[in-house]
Amino acid sequence: MELHIQKCQQCGSHHQRNILVRSEEQKVFVQCRDCKSLVARYILASGGYYHEGKDFESFLRSIERDQGTTSGRDLQTLFEEVQQSVAQEFEDTIKKAGERYGEQLP
Ligand SMILES: [Zn+2]
Repeated sequence: MELHIQKCQQCGSHHQRNILVRSEEQKVFVQCRDCKSLVARYILASGGYYHEGKDFESFLRSIERDQGTTSGRDLQTLFEEVQQSVAQEFEDTIKKAGERYGEQLP
C-alpha cells in the first residue's frame, strides 16, 4: 500500500478545500486555500462516493445518480457494508500515516 499526503505543488501548503461537482460524472477539485491553485482533480468511480454521517436516503440518491449500479442486492445491506468498510479503511489509513509520518504528519 502506498500512502501520500497531498500538498500544493505551487506553495507546499497542506491547507486545502475539496469541491464536489456533480454533473454527468462526479468530480472532486482540490484547491489550495493558501494560494488558490488547483492541486488535483479526482473523478469518482460509479458508486464510489461515501459521505460520513449521511443517512441511507442520501446513499440511495448517490446510487441513483450513478445509475445502473443497483443490482438485486439489498441496498440497506450494501449501505451498511460500505459504512463499515470505509470506517475500517480510514482507521487503517490513519494508522499507516501515523507509522510513516509520526509527529511530522502534515
Ligand atoms: Zn498553494
